[in-house]
Amino acid sequence: MSSLFRSLPSVDACLHRLEETFPSASHAVLLESCRAVLDELRDDIRAGLVADASALSLEAVTPRLCAAVEKRERPRFRRVINGAGVVVHTNLGRSVLAKEAREAVNIAASGYSNLEFNLKTGERGSRISLVEELLISLTGAEAALVVNNNAAAVLLMLDTLCKGGEVILSRGQLVEIGGSFRIPDVMERSGATLREVGTTNRTHLADYENALSENTRAVLWVHPSNYRIIGFHSSVPPAELANFAHSRGLPLLEDLGSGSLLDFSAWGLHDEPTVPEVLKAGTDVVTFSGDKVLGGPQAGIIVGKKEYVDRMKRNQLLRALRCDKLTLSALEATLRLYRDRETALRSVPTVRRMTMSAGELQRRAEHLRDMLNEHLAGLAECSLKADFSRVGGGAFPEQGMPTTLVCIRPAHSSAVQLKKHLLSTDPPLVGRLEDPYFQLDPRTMEEEEYADTARVLLQALREPS
Ligand SMILES: *Cc1c(COP(=O)(O)O)cnc(C)c1O
Repeated sequence: MSSLFRSLPSVDACLHRLEETFPSASHAVLLESCRAVLDELRDDIRAGLVADASALSLEAVTPRLCAAVEKRERPRFRRVINGAGVVVHTNLGRSVLAKEAREAVNIAASGYSNLEFNLKTGERGSRISLVEELLISLTGAEAALVVNNNAAAVLLMLDTLCKGGEVILSRGQLVEIGGSFRIPDVMERSGATLREVGTTNRTHLADYENALSENTRAVLWVHPSNYRIIGFHSSVPPAELANFAHSRGLPLLEDLGSGSLLDFSAWGLHDEPTVPEVLKAGTDVVTFSGDKVLGGPQAGIIVGKKEYVDRMKRNQLLRALRCDKLTLSALEATLRLYRDRETALRSVPTVRRMTMSAGELQRRAEHLRDMLNEHLAGLAECSLKADFSRVGGGAFPEQGMPTTLVCIRPAHSSAVQLKKHLLSTDPPLVGRLEDPYFQLDPRTMEEEEYADTARVLLQALREPS
């Protein structure tokens, strides 16, 4: 064993080899890679995994050294091709930003800006004012405010308006969204006390009525997002609940989750009221996400009555929840696209994907299938299958959108192996598994990504791991 240890190449020899291969990599990265690989080799020797000294020559360990450098040189944050057909895929970064939003981010990131500088007076300005007017004109609200995400918006709303008091909420809306956002927990953080009423499947106006006390600060409505109660159930419609709350001098607050400015019922997506509709029904404050169906950056948008929004603007907590200039620039650019409905449908990627026609999806699927059959000849067979895409992000949970999938059947390996291997290609490719097929949904892929898709599939099928 000790002779094996002596056969290991020196750090200097390894370093020299890597300097030739990676002339622009930093010395620190190369040195760290050499040390890491030599440590691994020593572990292998101790574990009896190295049979003879030839496996330890500089020549023999060079591929391992190169892989170690490549791993360190590659950013951890990477582009991924989404072939899963979930438009607002929370694990893959939710919404893809519109070109206009990406350009705005670039401008905000590349120089100084009027983030908190009033260009009329030359004095200090407010970062909220950059998007407030747009939000007011797009939603019909009296006032608007933007924070880091919708969870923060709900926290700020409850902390400002309900702290130390009670909030009435139906048991049918005590939801967990995922990523462990639980309404009761957020409520506890805000210092408001939850007053649950009704049962899981049925809540009546009388239940709210009976829960009133001198400590009641508000009535809350939470969008159930990712689940639906079907069968024997009832809830009080928001308009009725608003009348009730107002008659008792209380505000009706709503966590809308994935709020939208557009009505998608023409595309078969029903039962989601738009933000303007929710406000019109009498809700006093509405919160929703910037990066779900709206298709903008991660943000929590708060719109509603001026008296309540103004109180939130004065809450010290806002300082900790405010969003940065990159977010605000992307949000403004995204909202500007909504000033014209047709522009929003065409230019906001999330909206475009949700409204893509069956014919367009079929055409794209055929294009991808033909391209893959040509590139992967002998390695896989590709065919088409009618199926459904999902909106994701908790929106329209029960409603699939018809699509055409490209189904890839590997000739020499399994779909399970293929799916796994595609996580380590550059870029990684995420799809669906329906053994014996690995499937791609063209709804969430750009045609410009097809060439990369074919390349990484070819790589993964050629060297089944
Ligand atoms: C998604 C969602 C949230 C959390 O929103 P984030 O923007 O992810 O913080 C809160 N409430 C509801 C109802 C949701 O659907």
